[in-house]
Amino acid sequence: MTTRTDHTADRPISLTAPSGIDRAAHHRLDEAWLAAAWSHPSTRCFVVSGGQVLIDEAPDGRTELVMTPSFEAPLTEAHRYFLGIDENGVSYFALQKDSLPGRMDDSARPAGLREAGLLLSPREAGLMVHAVALENWQRLHRFCSRCGERTVIAAAGHIRRCPACGAEHYPRTDPAVIMSVIDDKDRILLGRQVHWPEGRFSTLAGFVEPGEAIEESVRREVHEEVGIAVGEVEYVASQPWPFPSSLMLGFVAHATSSEINVDGDEIHEARWFSRDELRAAFESGEVLPPYGISIAARLIERWYGEELPTRSAF
Ligand SMILES: [Zn+2]
Repeated sequence: MTTRTDHTADRPISLTAPSGIDRAAHHRLDEAWLAAAWSHPSTRCFVVSGGQVLIDEAPDGRTELVMTPSFEAPLTEAHRYFLGIDENGVSYFALQKDSLPGRMDDSARPAGLREAGLLLSPREAGLMVHAVALENWQRLHRFCSRCGERTVIAAAGHIRRCPACGAEHYPRTDPAVIMSVIDDKDRILLGRQVHWPEGRFSTLAGFVEPGEAIEESVRREVHEEVGIAVGEVEYVASQPWPFPSSLMLGFVAHATSSEINVDGDEIHEARWFSRDELRAAFESGEVLPPYGISIAARLIERWYGEELPTRSAF
């Protein structure tokens, strides 16, 4: 029996690490406070557009979210999201625009969360994921789901109100489960989705259905996708995944059967791997390591016992 040290337990999961930002939700309905915060010289803001922000390299080599004081910000009254306050009292806002601003120095570049989430500090990644999640919700919920009237933005981006029927609509988050399936021989099951290229294997995942407990969702998804029965289900961690509005809930699912029967709709191929088999498959290129930002990589690492080989996410 090999003794393993878990080198991965203390590493934060991308987009999940504490950002140090107090969302200060009690200020969202206080227009006077928001106006004062917006015009304060220490306030910082950034533009979000189509899930992207501008990032830039700092002189010390770190990647930063491009932020400006509010007095330099492009004018946009309607789509100004208040994101919170840091420990120094600095307020942060995101401005939702139809395009990202141009930059005179030309060194900044647009980036989405899959790229920026790996490069930015937990603070800036946290601000970005909040802004992108709000933007996605705002874009897709412009009309009242009760009466069909056009809704208006309120609460600094966190509510949409219907002027016709008075309904208030709140940002939506769709729970999804993602799980490493482990059998009694301590092997992991990885699957390849039908639209994935040859060699790309990862954990199984799926949406929680209405009226379903998340543990039952784990068991149902695993059974539907690969025909494996699951007993104990162990929660590991969560990850905001605003593509466009999911929250990934990560589990270890303990298999009670081993015969794979893929559904062919979502999963094209699934295999059990021992650690040695997965290591050999990475080395030969038969299996490609998962993208760095996803909690999937961390669920696999948690079982694997060491960091996975990395590959570019873009
Ligand atoms: Zn309405």
